Amino acid sequence: MPDFSTVQIKTPEISDGLGLYVHIPFCFSKCNYCDFNTYAGIENQFTSITNALVSELNYWGEVLQRPKINTVFLGGGTPSYLPDKQKTLIFETINSKFNLDNDVEITMECNPDDITPSRLDQWVSLGLNRLSLGVQSFDETILQSIDRRHTGEDALKAIECSKNSGVDNINIDLMFGLPNQELSDWAKTIKLALETNVSHLSIYGLQLEKGTPLEASVLTGKISTPGDESMADMYETVCKLLKNTNYKQYEISNWSLEGKQCKHNLLYWENKSYIGCGPGASSYVNGVRFTNIKSPKGYVKAIKKTKPNGSDIFHSEAIFELEPQTVPIAVLETMMLGLRLNEGISDNQFRKRLGTSMFTVFEKEIRELVESGLITKNDRCLKLTRRGQLLANEVISKFVV
Ligand code: SF4
Repeated sequence: MPDFSTVQIKTPEISDGLGLYVHIPFCFSKCNYCDFNTYAGIENQFTSITNALVSELNYWGEVLQRPKINTVFLGGGTPSYLPDKQKTLIFETINSKFNLDNDVEITMECNPDDITPSRLDQWVSLGLNRLSLGVQSFDETILQSIDRRHTGEDALKAIECSKNSGVDNINIDLMFGLPNQELSDWAKTIKLALETNVSHLSIYGLQLEKGTPLEASVLTGKISTPGDESMADMYETVCKLLKNTNYKQYEISNWSLEGKQCKHNLLYWENKSYIGCGPGASSYVNGVRFTNIKSPKGYVKAIKKTKPNGSDIFHSEAIFELEPQTVPIAVLETMMLGLRLNEGISDNQFRKRLGTSMFTVFEKEIRELVESGLITKNDRCLKLTRRGQLLANEVISKFVV
């Protein structure tokens, strides 16, 4: 049993700056593997949800007294699908109600089909300085099998167009373990991604999420997806193909060129504070995690009833669930998020957040993981080995109480 007797949770200061996440719950069509809180066919709610987002941004700007913002991330959903008129309103509110750091990173998730030179110009004029493109694969058949609306060719054109827009920080999302995907298809996608020379690659293995059409097709045997061994080979292939390139891995699923790590994601992994606006968005402020109502209509209704109440930051009617930090949760999160990073988790970081040494709290667990070759340890930090990266969930489970 870990020894929590010396643990004291330290709360990150709001004055150090926050991340700001804005959830845009619209997609043109739904991909068959996706269980995100996002919907197709609710375009009649573009205006009501944008108005609610603007009100919620106003609320946070006011109760936190125009806090400093280090990163902004428009995610979803497909923010690029939201009409630019509505995006402009959101950006105007962010600019007026928050104190954006001089070096602020502002990312928007985009579908390749939504990208045109004139729209890019418009987004850049709003302040956007990072684009994240949902590419997933460059293979036609594979893209169709997961109901993506773009083709591989569209994705390559969108990347080229984005590079010409002057935005020099571009991520592409790729996925492996897709229906009928062979190792050779996957290697081709990675090689094409390398040729694009974008600044950042996020590469995830497919998770079959409960209740998705893809899960149903796999369960009924209509579609097959690569098994665990093939998934491990695909991950190994990425690591091999990206080794000795200009891309450096900095997290289990993320590689970037020098200085182009995603600051917003780092903020999550380093347990810093952030505000999440929009239906189903999560926040972490003053040591409390909380989540908004998931349903878009329910969210709009709740925001209409919300009025700032002095400095009571948890007064928003949209908050559905408050989750004050407990010691076991804070310790688990710190280990889980820190171990995902390539540099591993340092004892210094652990002490900063929890006031004691991880080597004291998890003496036995760390010894066993080192003996089984899943992590390496020195005086200052712990890191996953390559095998540990493949079996990350098993490693993390050791820190669950
Ligand atoms: S575009 Fe992205 S958010 Fe929308 S359904 Fe597909 S995977 Fe989900």
